[in-house]
Amino acid sequence: MTASTSTLVPSDFIRDIVAEDVRTGKYKLIHTRFPPEPNGYLHIGHAKSICLNFGIAREFGGICNVRMDDTNPTKEETEYVDSIMADVRWLVDDWGASHLALNRNTPFYASDYFDRFYECAVELVRKNKAFVCDMTPEETDEYRRLGKESPFRNRSIEENLDLFARMKAGEFPDGARTLRAKIDMSAPNVWLRDPVLYRIRHASHHRTGDKWCIYPMYDWAHTLSDYIEGITHSVCTLEFEVHRPLYEWILDALEVPRPRPHQYEFARLNLTYTVMSKRKLIQLVNDKLVNGWDDPRMLTISGLRRRGVTASALRAFAYNIGITKYPSMTDMAVLEHTMRNEFNRTAARRLAVLRPIRVVLTNYPADRVEEVDAVNNPEDTNAGTRKIPFSRELFIDRDDFMETPPSKYFRLRPGGEVRLKYAYIIKCDEVVKDNAGKVTELRCSVDFESKSGGATSNRKVKGTIHWVSAAHAIEAEVRLYDRLFTVSEPDVGGDFKTFINPHSLEVVTAKCEPALAEARPPERYQFERLGYFALDPDSTPDKQVWNRTITLKDTWAKEAKKT
Ligand code: ATP
Ligand code: MG
Repeated sequence: MTASTSTLVPSDFIRDIVAEDVRTGKYKLIHTRFPPEPNGYLHIGHAKSICLNFGIAREFGGICNVRMDDTNPTKEETEYVDSIMADVRWLVDDWGASHLALNRNTPFYASDYFDRFYECAVELVRKNKAFVCDMTPEETDEYRRLGKESPFRNRSIEENLDLFARMKAGEFPDGARTLRAKIDMSAPNVWLRDPVLYRIRHASHHRTGDKWCIYPMYDWAHTLSDYIEGITHSVCTLEFEVHRPLYEWILDALEVPRPRPHQYEFARLNLTYTVMSKRKLIQLVNDKLVNGWDDPRMLTISGLRRRGVTASALRAFAYNIGITKYPSMTDMAVLEHTMRNEFNRTAARRLAVLRPIRVVLTNYPADRVEEVDAVNNPEDTNAGTRKIPFSRELFIDRDDFMETPPSKYFRLRPGGEVRLKYAYIIKCDEVVKDNAGKVTELRCSVDFESKSGGATSNRKVKGTIHWVSAAHAIEAEVRLYDRLFTVSEPDVGGDFKTFINPHSLEVVTAKCEPALAEARPPERYQFERLGYFALDPDSTPDKQVWNRTITLKDTWAKEAKKT
């Protein structure tokens, strides 16, 4: 994909359906929704759904609602509502479509419709299409599995109305009774076997408090919420395909006017090297295997944002993977590739040394400081150039020196030569070690004829490395991340928590070129040869903290080839 990714309009079977509905004028306005349950932070799978639902609204001049599917009082919290809204806004705010503004600031809440849901349920009872059942949850499950009718199925409408009102009034304990749709106990589709619509739950709700002690089940709440909000295309993941007949049954039973909302299903995002469900992500947080929901190793939207991923890269990723009806596993490399692709075009280059080793240029005057010219971004001629100070004492990365290197090692070695990027070729004359044998300093000499861009700079050496001037460098904390799991499918074969990569975070104190002092979020930089970096919110005026968003190359592909 190219720079214009965000202006490309993808096509898939759902967009084809919407386009056809637009062509035939079936609906006045295309209206989609993104309906998270506020029981955790959003993850990259939700990003796929947000990009699809907001994308359809954006492409067809419609509206997309964010609706909190807050029908389960015990697991939901306001913190999650706030984080969800922040994530959605971040992901769509700069997408460039004014109509999105209509609904992205204040969420809709299924709990706002509890009265309507209740009234509709009463209507269903009046139509003899629902009944109060006294079986336990276990019995109900068992009877549904066997296709056996409940002994309470043929209660009179009056008795059902009375019992349902008393359920609402709080006369019965949790689990004592349910309201069930009266559909077809011999239906091959289990969801049509008199599904439960309401259960008793004496629990405080994060928005309705203690007003309710009966709570609607997913299908009832979801279908009616779609109808109440005037949703036209209710897009969900494949697991809900079997629910669709129930969705339609509910709309039919209540005889809601046409045009009605329709449900469509697509394959959820599965990604290698991560777990995706909130239920599992919450375990990582609670067991302190990560530092919170926005830990940059988490594939949550807030984690990705903190790590330095841009909204545009996430949207490009969602477009790249496409929308299909077939379950599949997306390689983490696809996400990484999308990021590299964008950052290569947009990120200014800087020099930084992650694991410094001192280099003394013995023939370079101690009092001399040169400023060498460096291009800010070879992919973007408008990005200009800058000066980098060069002096007698420098730092290079420990990885760029080897005392006894293998063949084809083109970086620095005793007696060997290397080019310092934007500057000179140097030769390593002497290796200084401490008592423990650790290399503490490299004493090198400069070839003054070899300056980059100079008239006499045509001499070539095989290796070029990055460096910073010791006297001018600023120190920064740099957090280097690796994949959180060591196996591509941590969900498979045992407890996913046992596959945590113990080396997923490394913190180093880096030496950075002075221009980086001017860096401000949300700028991203390429630290040459090291990857793309973004400032972490832990940064203070005195100390920058950088996150490596992504390396320059796919190091895991190399690993895979080796083994
Ligand atoms: P989780 O198991 O992580 O809690 P969920 O489906 O229960 O996921 P919801 O908050 O109910 O989470 O989901 C909100 C919307 O996001 C739903 O429409 C759901 O289909 C969609 N969604 C959730 N996970 C994915 C995914 N991996 N890929 C695409 N869409 C997803
Ligand atoms: Mg859910």
